[in-house]
Amino acid sequence: MATSGLNPACILLFHGLLGEGERGDRYALPERRFARWLRQFRDENRACASLPRWWAEETPAAGPQLVLAFDDGGESDFQRAFPRLLEAGQPAVFFINTARVGAPGYLSWNQIREMRRAGMSIQSHGHDHVALTQLETSELDAQLQHSRRCLEDRLGDVVEFLSVPYGFWNRRVHISALRAGYRALCTSQTGLAQPGHTLLPRNAVRRGTSDLGLQALLRGSRGYFAWRRLRAGALAAPKQLLLRCAPRASQVTG
Ligand SMILES: [Zn+2]
Repeated sequence: MATSGLNPACILLFHGLLGEGERGDRYALPERRFARWLRQFRDENRACASLPRWWAEETPAAGPQLVLAFDDGGESDFQRAFPRLLEAGQPAVFFINTARVGAPGYLSWNQIREMRRAGMSIQSHGHDHVALTQLETSELDAQLQHSRRCLEDRLGDVVEFLSVPYGFWNRRVHISALRAGYRALCTSQTGLAQPGHTLLPRNAVRRGTSDLGLQALLRGSRGYFAWRRLRAGALAAPKQLLLRCAPRASQVTG
């Protein structure tokens, strides 16, 4: 495992983009703000890195990198994020629930293939969108193995990264993911990620994330990360409880 630590990345995690007048949950970001941030990255000469290439240290180690990630495979990934990324010439990684592909509101295999052909990375968010920590080990292994195999069979690419639904993981989920052949588990715990590590923190961007908040993330501000960790800790217990009551509830995002 490479552990140089010389080339950390701030992985920004998005959950879909909203058009003008559209409503969404607190994770949905207006497309207009996303496009403005991409223009800002361009003006700052900040190139986004491809997750697999950064992880394998194939990108130049020129200080902190920026990686853009999208969870859930919603159709706005294709309709809104993909054209903006193409326009900006920036790559992103899309984590897909294989059971949801082709369902109303989600990406189709044709859309996923088109995004992959254009240089986007496609990785796994599990087969179903379930809290992996609540599954028996045999079901957990099946979820992770099936999703990976399904993506590899359909796309012909190696799938190396798993992002955990709702951000819930533990040692058992981590071990199961590595056993299923993933190289790293992507969490929603705030912080900078290190190449070669098997646990990669990601920083969720929400509707409430301001330009100043984004700047603090990009600077790797320890104070801002500490504040986000405190807030996430306070919210974790109610979220776990809600999921325990309704494990497949679609209203709990993450
Ligand atoms: Zn999710």
